[in-house]
Amino acid sequence: MRKHIVAGNWKMNNDLPQTELLITDLLKQNQTSDAEVMIAPTFTNLWQAFESLRQEPIEVIAQNMHFAENGAYTGEVSASMLKSIGIKTVILGHSERRAYYNETDESLAKKVDAALANDMRVIFCFGEELADRKAGNEEAVVEGQIKNALFHLGADAFKSIVLAYEPVWAIGTGETASPEQAQDMHAFIRKTLADKYGNDVADSVSILYGGSVKPANAKEIFSKPDVDGGLIGGAALKAEDFYAIVNAF
Ligand code: PEP
Repeated sequence: MRKHIVAGNWKMNNDLPQTELLITDLLKQNQTSDAEVMIAPTFTNLWQAFESLRQEPIEVIAQNMHFAENGAYTGEVSASMLKSIGIKTVILGHSERRAYYNETDESLAKKVDAALANDMRVIFCFGEELADRKAGNEEAVVEGQIKNALFHLGADAFKSIVLAYEPVWAIGTGETASPEQAQDMHAFIRKTLADKYGNDVADSVSILYGGSVKPANAKEIFSKPDVDGGLIGGAALKAEDFYAIVNAF
């Protein structure tokens, strides 16, 4: 059985008091599903969030990290720094990082290696742009992103990797991939993994969908056989909405 996962990516939202308030609200919600729940606050609030949720079934995860252990990389944070405050999972390759901070498949491969070398779990994000889909290139683009950043890894590494398919045209736009579009791509991703690593690995990796998931559409998207959860942006900033999605399994 693959794990169901719902992870909230708070992006650059919520200062410290707002983070504490949202966590208080999250703790008032009732979980009825079997999903693993994660939230990714901004770096400055990770420690406080981790402390507040230490005894709770909500994992606090990071939105990004650098590939180096330490050194002259002003403004950056390393895997070992995250680990030293208890963070065990990191989101890598989000489309906003790729678009605004020039993250490439090559730099992401280094980040993945650094996270795994520090025994961290990775939520690896990828997805095509609207122009790719219009040109019918979405599968080739997604395949390239996965192969370039992950296919140097051995099969064992996939025990620590969660994939997140996030079509760029659906992120923060209100436009969602249809449940069928999500299923088709997730099945293609699983086949891509199976071709390289075999069915056992492919069947064990959780593949999340991200892109304007909301309470109104989560149930239908999560009902698809190859969709194992969601990476949630906007709707993760309201506790009731986030838990309506968590409970959509
Ligand atoms: C995201 O940024 O990962 C995301 C899916 O955002 P939203 O849910 O707001 O589209």
